[in-house]
Amino acid sequence: MSYIQFLGAAGTVTGSKHLVNSNGDLSGRTGLQVLVDCGMFQGPKEWRLKNWEETPIAAKDIEAVILTHAHLDHSGWIPRLVKEGFRGRIYATPPTVDLCAILLPDSGYLQEEDARFHNKRKTSKHSPALPLYTFDEARECLDRFTPVPFGKSIELSPAMSFRFVRAAHILGSAMAEITLKLNGSARKLVFTGDIGRVKDSETAPGKVVYSGPQEGIDADVLVMESTYGNREHPDVDVRPKMAQMITEAARRGGTVVVPAFAVERTQKFLFLLKELMEEGKIPRIPVSADSPMAIEAVKIFLKHTEEFSDETKKLIARHGSPLEWPGFNFAITAEQSKKLNDARYPSIIVSSNGMCMGGRIQHHLIHRLPDPRNLILFIGFQAPGTRGRQIKDGAREVKIFGEIVPVRAQVGALEQFSDHADTSELLQWLGTFKRKPAVTHLVHGEPEATQMLRDAITAKLGWNVDIAEYLKKAPIK
Ligand SMILES: [Zn+2]
Repeated sequence: MSYIQFLGAAGTVTGSKHLVNSNGDLSGRTGLQVLVDCGMFQGPKEWRLKNWEETPIAAKDIEAVILTHAHLDHSGWIPRLVKEGFRGRIYATPPTVDLCAILLPDSGYLQEEDARFHNKRKTSKHSPALPLYTFDEARECLDRFTPVPFGKSIELSPAMSFRFVRAAHILGSAMAEITLKLNGSARKLVFTGDIGRVKDSETAPGKVVYSGPQEGIDADVLVMESTYGNREHPDVDVRPKMAQMITEAARRGGTVVVPAFAVERTQKFLFLLKELMEEGKIPRIPVSADSPMAIEAVKIFLKHTEEFSDETKKLIARHGSPLEWPGFNFAITAEQSKKLNDARYPSIIVSSNGMCMGGRIQHHLIHRLPDPRNLILFIGFQAPGTRGRQIKDGAREVKIFGEIVPVRAQVGALEQFSDHADTSELLQWLGTFKRKPAVTHLVHGEPEATQMLRDAITAKLGWNVDIAEYLKKAPIK
């Protein structure tokens, strides 16, 4: 008996965690247990509380983690898993290993900050409020990472091996292709992780890494993301609208605040800013990337030239390292970050985190939200229940650090920056499969998106599609 159990990202977009149990029984006592992704739940409290629950299979009995990419909703629970007793290896592509080395300790640090904050204000039911894991605990788990290049096959047991194929979502992102020997024959399981956009520089401009997910693969069981299962990204070039919004905000003397994910999105946005400035399409106003993480991420990005898209190669050949572009300021210290709050001239501040739930962006929002001259520009997916989603949905005020902050600034969004394929792109990619999988389990989507994607796949391709449910076990036949 082999099965997949969905321990996260089922009915929601965060907490990706899928247990593969090979040749065990349904109690999961025997057999090889492997986790594909080990993400943290973010967003709504009902899901976040699950970060405190133990895994159904004891962490010490899990043999390995296969990690598709570095985003915290796929990797952020790893230190907790180690804290709960996991002693195996964590396999990831070399850029993912490098990114986790900065993202996980930072996540630990932010959780310690949160706990400190709640303890100071006595705003938690728990006394004292504790972090899920600390900075030090996150650093210690980094020794467990083993880099695995794309395409290289790793044998976990005589019955199970895997390799990574390109997902083109963010730097180093992969799909996990697992081969399982069952009753003498092989089954191929493909876990997509998050799927990047198609190879098209017009509809997805500024792609900084390898463009387009690997085509022509096949699977018996496909576990696939559905974030944009009910949406199409605008298929027009993002640059004219981006230029117009920034130019207008600068003319009114406003500051543009961009909540950005440190990895990928920040680089992409900076690259397009550089291009627009060089072409004279936006004024040359100061740009501050106020995220120590983003700076570290840019360094890792510059190290992995093998991942660059053609556009990125050209831009770097022309202008050199983004860290040294004139007029681009990578504020590092908290002091320098605070100085940005006092600046009264037009500028652009890119700061994380992307859903406005933590990090330095919160201070920038407190200072910039009340002034109608400013522009808050969203370039990423905002999960329900997050502060970013509230602002994007038109809230008149938001609560930050316990303070009510009025929202008077202009709020805009550019959906083209997404690093996720939209519905048409997902269907286009599925159309390249060599054969129909016996079953496709949809994960990583809000319920409505997942249902619409299931309907679209059934209607267009005639595939057998299941919507994954939290904790449900799906036997591998
Ligand atoms: Zn992701």
